[in-house]
Amino acid sequence: MDVVEKLVEYARLCWDRGLTESTGGNMSVRADDNTIYITPTFTVKHFLKVGDMVRLSLEGEKLEGKEEPSSERKMHLLIYRERADVKAIFHAHPPYVTTFAVSGEKIPINVLPEAVLLVRDIAYLPYETPGTQEFADVFIPELKKGKDVFVLQNHGVTVVGKSIEEAYARLETLEFVARVAWTLKTSGNYIKEIKKDKIKELLSLQDESSNED
Ligand SMILES: [Zn+2]
Repeated sequence: MDVVEKLVEYARLCWDRGLTESTGGNMSVRADDNTIYITPTFTVKHFLKVGDMVRLSLEGEKLEGKEEPSSERKMHLLIYRERADVKAIFHAHPPYVTTFAVSGEKIPINVLPEAVLLVRDIAYLPYETPGTQEFADVFIPELKKGKDVFVLQNHGVTVVGKSIEEAYARLETLEFVARVAWTLKTSGNYIKEIKKDKIKELLSLQDESSNED
């Protein structure tokens, strides 16, 4: 399976798993050093096909595809230009992450081991009009700090990864922990965090295993 086929599969999975709604959300993958494939605008991702994907240069020039590229392409292109390590980007409106994004409250991460490992620290970005250059530019300072997860006030979330699989796992894990946390909060229950020394232990185990690769 090539990267475009894989991205289409994962974009459809996003919709099928309820991680984004209606025609919302957009996904992309780096094809090579200078080009990306991105989902087309106004598409229900459940119906996405390989032939719908649009190839763009990192400067935004359309190179292949009969459809119009996502209206959020400025954000995708800026992220790929800023961060050579990023291979895939998922932007979506998962219901519980979006609930936190609208409430303005922060999502507790140190409550589940998978979230600690995959999500780590989240950048919370102020609201900007989707599709504009201003919307893309608010990512710059946090991208430079190496953040991989960007919760967007009154909008949704963007996650990046070194692979399609990593970006997808980050998105679904974040939504899972947001659902658990919101359910506890709204039922009046206490959210218990994992102890700091255990978080450290978990992160050091991950660092050891990534050094072995
Ligand atoms: Zn959006």
